[in-house]
This record gives sequence, structure tokens and C-alpha cells, in this order.
Amino acid sequence: MIIKTDKSEIMDFFQDASNFKGDCDAVYFPKEAEEVKQILIDANKNRTHVTISGNGTGLTGARVPEDGIVISTNLLNKIIEINETNKYAVIEPGVILKDFQDLVESKGLFYPPDPTERNCFVGATVANNSSGAKTFKYGPTRDYVEAANIILPDGEEVYLNRGDVYAVDNILSFITKSGKLIKLNLPAHPMPETKHTAGYYYKPGMDAIDLFIGSEGTLGFLSEIKLKLIDLPRNILSSIIFFDDEMDALNFITEVRESSKSNRNSNDLSLINALGLEFFDNNSLKFMIEEYTQIPQTANAAVWFEQEIDDVSEEEALNNWMELIEKNNGDLETAWIATNEKDRTKFKDFRHAISWKVTEYITRENVRKVGTDTAVPDNKFLEYYDYIITTVKSNGLNYICYGHAGNSHVHLNMLPKNETEYLKARKIYADLCSKAVEMKGTISAEHGIGKLKRNFLNIMFNETEIKEMAQLKKALDPNLILGIGNIFETNYFDEK
Ligand SMILES: Cc1cc2nc3c(=O)[nH]c(=O)nc-3n(C[C@H](O)[C@H](O)[C@H](O)COP(=O)(O)OP(=O)(O)OC[C@H]3O[C@@H](n4cnc5c(N)ncnc54)[C@H](O)[C@@H]3O)c2cc1C
Repeated sequence: MIIKTDKSEIMDFFQDASNFKGDCDAVYFPKEAEEVKQILIDANKNRTHVTISGNGTGLTGARVPEDGIVISTNLLNKIIEINETNKYAVIEPGVILKDFQDLVESKGLFYPPDPTERNCFVGATVANNSSGAKTFKYGPTRDYVEAANIILPDGEEVYLNRGDVYAVDNILSFITKSGKLIKLNLPAHPMPETKHTAGYYYKPGMDAIDLFIGSEGTLGFLSEIKLKLIDLPRNILSSIIFFDDEMDALNFITEVRESSKSNRNSNDLSLINALGLEFFDNNSLKFMIEEYTQIPQTANAAVWFEQEIDDVSEEEALNNWMELIEKNNGDLETAWIATNEKDRTKFKDFRHAISWKVTEYITRENVRKVGTDTAVPDNKFLEYYDYIITTVKSNGLNYICYGHAGNSHVHLNMLPKNETEYLKARKIYADLCSKAVEMKGTISAEHGIGKLKRNFLNIMFNETEIKEMAQLKKALDPNLILGIGNIFETNYFDEK
């Protein structure tokens, strides 16, 4: 196994796409699960902190070590099996999502979870319960994890198969490969109905595997994952529509969301039934106009949608969409419409470019972006959107807002120019999280809490609930070695 200690060779691991900075003594590059097991056994004995790293595209500093060692998943990158008959895949964690999806699609199958940045590792998307544009129709990563091999912080190993182990009376019991009985008291905190990945997953009678999905590298190392695949959509209509009036774009989104929800189970592909529904505000368009000169000068907002179609339904589907666009004053003349893969990819790239340009901007200007990841119930979305924009404008901060509006989840990225503005943005961030929670939403719909947002967890959960989560972690990791600094402030471990 390669172990690197020379700081100049490992400094890439000291940050992620959030620009959060850290440090560590060594990075280990295991090639098999047995090596991971041994690293954890040794670290547990020596009480060395261990941080698991994916590809570093995370936006919360979760893979960034504050000390100790890092286990890189870079060399655990085999696609072990793609079973076309039973529609599943078995992979190691370090497989790049884009490569995996492309391969699966070449076999006529489909793996829907599509975070905008597809240069991430699939293992990390499971650790984060990541989601993306198509989560609007297909749900988050969690819905596609059928089984996982997990190496616990003390080196014990367990294979959890969905459907095999459920919690009883809020106690989750399972047996490791060596025969050790693990019994965990589940924290019984309420979970919002929205997309959500803040803190540990909890549902009465929950499946054991769900505890590890979205646990941000704090409960165990996912060394092998079995993922559900589905049939590839026949063809996809993809379109970006520009609106002169932002309110028209938001009303369009509301109508598409409601129609799509009511047509979800229909086989009629001509009906409005979006796979993804994404929003871009005026500032997003300004960020992009230099590179994408086709963006109309008068546009103040845009919406990107995708919908499955086939040869029979294509014309009627297009008519139905045009009717809805016209009704909401979308500009049909300047609309970008694609029914082939090449053009669809361009639209996907456009969506990615916005997120990426923000990341580039914060790195180039060496500023710390303060970006929300809040989601609210659909019936509260317009009210919440109005609240966040009014708040940021009245505080005079630069911002850009875009994202997964289909799921009532947009990212308001505040771009403070100096320390004073940064501190102001953090205050506003806390306020926007509180508002989302007040509306029965979440402080994190997809990025997780990591290190950057751990001191906001108490906006979502009360002291007792956080302590219960911390105690659950302690039960699996009594020496507190794994993913320390993620999700919890360390003082939550001290108290009972
Ligand atoms: C431009 C841009 C757009 C983005 N868009 C989206 C989006 O639309 N939706 C979304 O959900 N996210 C998005 N992200 C965030 C990011 O891509 C996801 O969080 C992704 O899952 C991180 O993957 P990674 O491989 O880079 O993981 P890293 O950042 O390296 O790690 C993330 C977490 O996973 C843990 N981890 C990694 N591997 C394992 C393992 N084998 N076992 C246990 N824990 C593990 C790490 O400890 C860490 O806590 C975006 C990021 C960027 C830069």
C-alpha cells in the first residue's frame, strides 16, 4: 500500500471544493478492503484520527482532515459487476460517478442520482446521500443503495443488505462478520419530508443500511456498494427557457412541479412529467453571459427542464410544454431545445458551469462563499424564495441563486467581499436556515453538514437530539477516531 507523508505530495487532500483548509500527517492509499481494515485497527489502537476522502468535490470540508491520517479511496476504484438481468451494479467506493453512469448507460440501463459535479466518487455520494437534478423524479442516492460492505471504526466488518435488518423499538441490532453483536439506541429525532441530509437518518423501524447512508464518513468505511439500476429513459427532451420576469419563471416551476407530481405514475409520455426542474436567477445569467452569448439580454431568470419522451409522444409532449411556457410568458423564440444527446450535454454543462464558476470565483478571489443548501416543503417554496432574496438584498451582499427548484431547494450563494461581509453572511445564513426549519424544511438537502456547517446543526435539532446522535456515533466509535469534526462539535461527545 502506498503511504505518503511528504506535505507537498498530499496537500491536495488538505481542502475540498468549499475551500475549507486542513492538515494531516499521512495519506494512505489502500487497494483492498483488508488494508482499510488494518489501517482502522491500528488507528483505533493508537487513537489516531482518520478522515475518509473521496474526490474532494464536497462543499462542506467533510473530507478535509484537521489532523491524523487520511484514507484515500482513489485506488479502490473497481466496478465489480454490472448485472443487466437483475439490474444492479456492485462497485468499490472510488469509482467516478460520471464513468459509472456512462458505462451503465452504454448497456441500456440507468443510474439516476446525478449531483451536478459528476467528477465525484460514487462511495462519497452514498456517504453524503447526494442528489441532483433528476432527484426531482427519481429520488436521492439513498433510494438506489441495495447493500453495502462497511468497515466499522474498530476494524469490524458488516455486510448490510436492504431488507434484512430493521430497528425494533428504536434499537438496531446486527452481527459483524467476526460474530460481534452491535446494538445501537437510535436517536428519535423528527425528519422533514423534504430532501434532507443533515445529521443521521432516522425513521421508526428503519433499515440498518439507512443509518450509514448520509453519515458523512463518521460511522464506517463503505468498501463495497451494491446499487440498483433502472431502465434507461427512451429519449429525453431537454430545454432551457428564458423569462423576462422572474415571477413568471417561478410560477412556471410551480405549475410544472404540480403537473409532474400528478402525472408521476402515468405511462403517457406526452403529459408534463419532468425528470428535473432547475432554476437560474438573474445574477446566475449575468455570471454566464460572457461565455454563453446566446442568453437573451432581456432575460431575468431561466428554467431548465428534462422530460422522458419517445417517438410517439414527442410532438404532443412538445405542444404541452409550449402551451405551459406561453401561459407563463416564457420566451419560446429564444428557448434552447434539445432532443439529442449532444445538445442535452450542452445544457447539462451550462448547469454545471454555474456551480463551477462560483467555485472558481471563490478560489480565485480567495473568498469564503456562504451558500445555503436549505429546502422547504413545496407549498412554502415561493414564500421562502421571496424571504431569502429580500433578506440578502436588504443586507447589500453580492449573491447568486440557482438550483433544484423542482425539489423546492435552491442554493443562495452569498459572495462576501471582505471579513465584515463574511460575518454578516454567516448571520444571514443562520437566519435562512432557521426560516427553512420553521417552515418544516431542512438546513441541508444534499451537501451535508461536514465541518463548515456543524455549528448550525442546532438550528435543526435540539441539544438532546444532537447528543443522542453523538452517543450513537460513540457507540460505534468509542475511541472517537473516524470523521471527527464532521457533523458534530466535539463537545457533544463529552456529555451524556
Ligand atoms: C460544482 C459542484 C456542484 C455540486 N453539485 C452537487 C449537487 O447537485 N448535489 C449534491 O448532492 N452535491 C453536489 N456537490 C457536492 C459534491 O459533489 C458531493 O457532495 C459529492 O458526493 C462529493 O463527492 P467526492 O467524491 O468529491 O467526496 P469528498 O468531498 O471527497 O467526500 C465527501 C464525504 O464522503 C465521505 N466518504 C468518501 N468516501 C467514503 C467511503 N468510502 N466511506 C465512508 N465515507 C466516505 C468523506 O469522508 C466525506 O465526509 C457539488 C460540488 C461541486 C464542486
